[in-house]
Amino acid sequence: MAWTLERVPVAAGTLPEGPHWDAAAGGVYWVDISAGRVHFLDGSGEQRTWEAGQPVGAVAGRAGGGLVLAVRDGFAALDLATGQTSALAGVEPDRPDNRMNDGACDRAGRFFAGTKAEDDAPGAGALYRLDPDHVVTLIVADVTISNGIGWSPDEQLMYYVDSPTRRVDVFDYDPAGGAIGGRRPFARLPSADAMPDGLAVDAEGGVWVALWGGSAVHRYDAAGRLDQVVEVPHVNVTSCAFGGPGLDLLYVTAAAGPGAAEGALYLGPAGVAGLPAYPFRG
Ligand code: CA
Repeated sequence: MAWTLERVPVAAGTLPEGPHWDAAAGGVYWVDISAGRVHFLDGSGEQRTWEAGQPVGAVAGRAGGGLVLAVRDGFAALDLATGQTSALAGVEPDRPDNRMNDGACDRAGRFFAGTKAEDDAPGAGALYRLDPDHVVTLIVADVTISNGIGWSPDEQLMYYVDSPTRRVDVFDYDPAGGAIGGRRPFARLPSADAMPDGLAVDAEGGVWVALWGGSAVHRYDAAGRLDQVVEVPHVNVTSCAFGGPGLDLLYVTAAAGPGAAEGALYLGPAGVAGLPAYPFRG
């Protein structure tokens, strides 16, 4: 199909990341990592912004109201009415040069988010799982830039990106207990110029991967074959998410970089419905 991504007329920030559709609120959240800001755009085009007080890598809803954030120091809650953040659980207090990065919730409401070193030191990061009781569990160690996370429609698989590997990997997933196993490559990027960043999964099991340095979002079918390329007029594409009333619109975030002084938010018809973004149940 012909793709027509349109730039959404908002001040998206310098490093927009982690779009997250909130069906109840009828809008999309995203973060501006380095600015430490959480943005929201509703269906009428009204934008709201909250300050996280530190770099923020990912956002998800909370079933009880407000948001859960993956911030520099760990997991935090954001009260949307007061704008106050409060710590839920610290992560890697012994690694002050690390910060949290991308994250997402499974259907049961466990929030998975990973870390990276500010200088991208190899193997300095990890992937963690925040359970509804606020206990944090190490899921994957020896990660360099922890990024996109998503699940297959039946939640028997979990997709995961450690960007410098230039791969999307897949694990067997246990939706009852939140455990993973059997890591293997799912898709390899064809270009050495681009790194995989955020991802989103559609209802047919297709995996949409944002390409940092690649000016594109790739869709890989459930077998891991590249079957669509969405060109993006920004070089550093950071993430994507399904949204809209039918979950069939693709929101794409992109960062400042070559030829772009500012980041951007794009929107276009995906041609397929996505899986919903689940809230954190803690
Ligand atoms: Ca990212």
